[in-house]
Amino acid sequence: AKAQLFDKEGPVQVSFKDVAGLSEAKQEVEEIVSFLKNPNKYTELGGKIPKGALLVGPPGTGKTLLAKAVAGEANVPFFSLSGSDFVEMFVGVGASRVRDLFRQAKEKAPCIVFIDEIDAVGRARGKNPNMGSNDERENTLNQLLTEMDGFGSNSGVIILAATNRADILDKALLRAGRFDRQIYVELPDLNDRKAIFRVHLRNVKIDDSVDIDLLARQTPGFSGADIANVCNEAALIAARKGKNYVQKQDFMDAVDRIVGGLEKRTKITT
Ligand code: ATP
Repeated sequence: AKAQLFDKEGPVQVSFKDVAGLSEAKQEVEEIVSFLKNPNKYTELGGKIPKGALLVGPPGTGKTLLAKAVAGEANVPFFSLSGSDFVEMFVGVGASRVRDLFRQAKEKAPCIVFIDEIDAVGRARGKNPNMGSNDERENTLNQLLTEMDGFGSNSGVIILAATNRADILDKALLRAGRFDRQIYVELPDLNDRKAIFRVHLRNVKIDDSVDIDLLARQTPGFSGADIANVCNEAALIAARKGKNYVQKQDFMDAVDRIVGGLEKRTKITT
């Protein structure tokens, strides 16, 4: 039951077919799947399996999805935590949670440990612009570094971490033997947006008026998460109107609504 603590999502049912586009990133993580499935193939020749990789890219581009798909494809447990959970913690709590997480992961190896928003704990030390130093954040980061150094590279635990900002990370995290591999997860191009629409329309009842190519052309700058949102919103709009199928107009309305949200988001952040 204690494993549940970190394995928030339960058993992993995500596979590579749920991740549209991202062909380069997928290729890179396929190697990690292979390490998890056949470690001996690598270690027998004297190779050291990497301990971790950093997934770098804008919000909503599928970093979490890709990490889950690695666990799903390798059929191993997925432990996750978010760096932002540690920001407001009492002294000692962050470090002890990191310790607990790695203890459980080592017991359940082979497995994936996923750390979302690693920049929240992994910002360069002593460079916090607000409120002086944050000792607990540093303790948590130090514990994470200690844990990464503490297990052998062939332990079967592979750590994937996600960030939008690799440039602000403490260099200690990026050193050899830690997150020495970076995998870029970019915003989707036209073809990738088509593929993402197809994935998210698998279970949506659409009629012939819906043109996926047109939808992809009308959504430049949208992330995968935005596209998932459009598909869901369109289905809700059609349902509200009592339709049996989702139609082109419902998608147009959904796109307008999401664009409205995106504009607000940009205004707030700039
Ligand atoms: P954040 O940086 O905000 O944590 P993220 O990069 O981890 O974002 P996810 O949480 O993986 O993004 O994506 C959110 C949702 O958007 C996914 O659960 C999925 O439904 C959809 N999505 C994002 N990218 C893709 C993709 N490449 N293919 C299919 N669906 C996607």
